[in-house]
Amino acid sequence: MSKSLQAIRGMNDILPEQTPLWRYFEGTVARLLDNYGYKQIRMPIVEFTELFKRSIGEVTDIVEKEMYTFEDRNGDSLTLRPEGTAACVRAVLEHGITGGGQVQKLWYIGPMFRHERPQKGRYRQFHQIGLEVFNLDGPDIDAELIIMTWRLWGELGIRDAVKLELNSLGTSESRGRYREALVEYLSAHHDKLDEDSQRRLKTNPLRVLDTKNADTQAVLVDAPKMADYLDDESRTHFEGLKARLDAVGIPYVLNPKLVRGLDYYSKTVFEWVTDKLGAQGTVCAGGRYDGLVEQMGGKPTPGVGFAMGIERLVLMLETLEQIPQEISRQVDVYLCAFGEEAELAGLALAERVRDELPNLRLQVNAGAGSFKSQFKKADKSGALYALILGDDEMAQQVVGFKPLRGQGEQQSIAWDELAAHLATCVVQG
Ligand code: ATP
Ligand code: MG
Repeated sequence: MSKSLQAIRGMNDILPEQTPLWRYFEGTVARLLDNYGYKQIRMPIVEFTELFKRSIGEVTDIVEKEMYTFEDRNGDSLTLRPEGTAACVRAVLEHGITGGGQVQKLWYIGPMFRHERPQKGRYRQFHQIGLEVFNLDGPDIDAELIIMTWRLWGELGIRDAVKLELNSLGTSESRGRYREALVEYLSAHHDKLDEDSQRRLKTNPLRVLDTKNADTQAVLVDAPKMADYLDDESRTHFEGLKARLDAVGIPYVLNPKLVRGLDYYSKTVFEWVTDKLGAQGTVCAGGRYDGLVEQMGGKPTPGVGFAMGIERLVLMLETLEQIPQEISRQVDVYLCAFGEEAELAGLALAERVRDELPNLRLQVNAGAGSFKSQFKKADKSGALYALILGDDEMAQQVVGFKPLRGQGEQQSIAWDELAAHLATCVVQG
């Protein structure tokens, strides 16, 4: 017996009953980003493996153990993108659109791939909306990114359920000095660290700050603090960011342990976290990466960005029951026709109405059927009104217009007047 066909573990179908909420979320974000003057960019899903090694860093979780890497038929090593920043930087460099200090404010949406342990809010194919800004180095743009997300949470009705955590990693020089101090301190407590942290101490010591291990956390209580090592430039930048968030009234908490998983961050790092999703609490994360473009072979180019996880945010909308009612109804009007002649007339009539009302959501019955079965389908579609074409209506060149949700009797409407009539009674969303 052959094994039944299944999707890959951690890679989900998004079924028709879920897509309205996804489209509502994606549409809301897209409109907001348009309104703030950001432009969409679309990159391939597959890139050379080298791109991610060089940008994300060899000793990060992603590159060490989470990438979907394979050889293609030419023998090239390719990887399904685990995140968007690397490809976005590659694209702007390849097309020269950040040259000469040109400002770019870009966003993208799409699937990302990481071989992690699947669980609620953590998948192997997941979806992000990400955003990157190039050639602006001030705290004003860091603030704008956070302000936009704050507005988004407001529009989605989830503002009370998220918290902003903020930190500054300083410039690479100040981070270097801090790293030394941290390594010295942690080395003196080497035996009290968990195994993972002992390994990270050698490969990527800042990541030790990120540990979930209670014993290591206890050691960290007295560890040197990044804030004490910030250079003046980073300090001023950070103060500038905080002043802007204060001006707009966005609350935040400073989290000195926030280091982010990727190597490329500098100065500002932030995360929006929630306690509504269990362990997978970060819904949006980002920061500044002033050294990345140069590290990838470009001219020094400041950059800052973030990415949000669509699955986690959709889950939040469901958990907090912030699902706008109108998104579940996808049909306004359902046309039923009885007999072949009525079916042909119905098709033509539907197209005339669509010409005049391009936003009308009009579904024409397919598969014929009895009066009873067509009505059942009309009702199930969620439509507000049914249009009926039977022998009587055909003889009089009218259509029966029947409210399906409560109030009102069936009326007869002349074919020529149908579009005008629908325009008065169907509210366009
Ligand atoms: P985490 O600490 O949860 O693993 P991360 O730091 O690896 O997150 P980023 O690379 O910053 O995540 O990605 C930005 C956002 O994308 C995350 O905040 C999260 O909302 C989402 N995300 C990351 N990995 C996954 C995943 N495997 N499944 C679903 N969403 C994810
Ligand atoms: Mg991760």
